[in-house]
Amino acid sequence: MTAHDRIDYLICDEACFYTVEQIEQLADLVDSHGVDVYAFGLASDFRSVMFPAAQRLFELADEVCRLQVEVLCWCGRPGQLNARIVGGAMARTGEQVVIGDTDDAPVRYQVLCRRHHRAGQLGEGTGMGAGTPEGGSAA
Ligand SMILES: [Zn+2]
Repeated sequence: MTAHDRIDYLICDEACFYTVEQIEQLADLVDSHGVDVYAFGLASDFRSVMFPAAQRLFELADEVCRLQVEVLCWCGRPGQLNARIVGGAMARTGEQVVIGDTDDAPVRYQVLCRRHHRAGQLGEGTGMGAGTPEGGSAA
């Protein structure tokens, strides 16, 4: 803010990975400096638990919009939650942030509808019709 003459708005991507303190700072920018802040990111992690920064954003935001998710669960329902797949099994415990990849990486993420996230069902073709409650070794 001090390095620029005037900032009208900020676009903050991946805000789920911000710290709670940074979210508070964004609110300060809005309230004390007249900056419009648009923050984007995931609401919840692979356990369907909210990221702390996302929770604080929900608490402080003037407006919250769920963006239309283009990705569908294997069953055809809208994909709402990200499942972490470790060694082929759905993980329900572990660090909140683990960098993963797609396809055959040791840690990957798969978008599921809430029903199949809760049931731990990764769909056909993955060899994981029913995930185990602990879902492998994510710790
Ligand atoms: Zn589904």
